[in-house]
Amino acid sequence: MSNRETRPHPKISIRDLHKRFGNNVVLSGIDFDVFSGQVIVIIGPSGSGKSTFLRCCNGLELPERGDITLCGSPLISKGKPLPEKQLNQLRKEVGMVFQSFNLFPHLSVLENLCVAPMMLRNLDKATAQQNALKLLDKVGLTSKAQAMPGNLSGGQKQRVAISRALAMSPSVMLFDEPTSALDPELVGEVLQVMKMLASEGMTMMIVTHEMGFAREVADVVVVMDGGGIVEAGPPEQIFGAPQSERTRQFLNAVL
Ligand code: ADP
Ligand code: MG
Repeated sequence: MSNRETRPHPKISIRDLHKRFGNNVVLSGIDFDVFSGQVIVIIGPSGSGKSTFLRCCNGLELPERGDITLCGSPLISKGKPLPEKQLNQLRKEVGMVFQSFNLFPHLSVLENLCVAPMMLRNLDKATAQQNALKLLDKVGLTSKAQAMPGNLSGGQKQRVAISRALAMSPSVMLFDEPTSALDPELVGEVLQVMKMLASEGMTMMIVTHEMGFAREVADVVVVMDGGGIVEAGPPEQIFGAPQSERTRQFLNAVL
């Protein structure tokens, strides 16, 4: 766990976050801080609000109530988002990876990595391509630079999606079940890339059902149920000595 004395300013600070869809209360008062370099793994049953929580953290969902501060700037204040222009500015700091990859199907792998940096970070094409090739090398996909997404395996697609997010040089990465759509034999290569990012000090929030990964890589495991945080603590606590009956029930069901 991070030492709060040496890291006084959270990368992401979430206070009193409330979100509902119609009458369905999905987040009911979440308070949480993510410090620089921390790996936060969020677990919990389906429908407990994990995706909504993550999506609020980059302004993809708008809460009714609450405050979110990103890298010291308010992203959402009293349930109101920043003006669009500033919101987009701040969003560049948050990379997001989805279960369904969401690559641009009509663009090559290399082009997938270059679009956002050229449009949003004003990089020229040569620089964007140079950066992209470095990132592809990092995730072991240099040979796929000219390939189209449709010709890649799921594991390769997800590694491209991760490097595409990294191409924006985000200061935080959010992952929503990045391995849930993959055949079992392809899960490892994606988790490996995420472990590498963790070891490099990337700040990450990861929703996953991969309990082995959570145990090994998380600084803090957050257990969600019914739109709230049931328990948060180091993996030794969550998996070894859970404080909450709900945590025990959930782990019994999945382990
Ligand atoms: P989890 O990721 O833990 O499975 P979600 O955040 O996806 O949970 O969903 C929590 C609840 O919010 C569910 O009841 C879901 O049906 C509802 N929900 C999520 N997104 C929407 C949406 N866009 N519109 C309406 N209801 C939604
Ligand atoms: Mg979800």
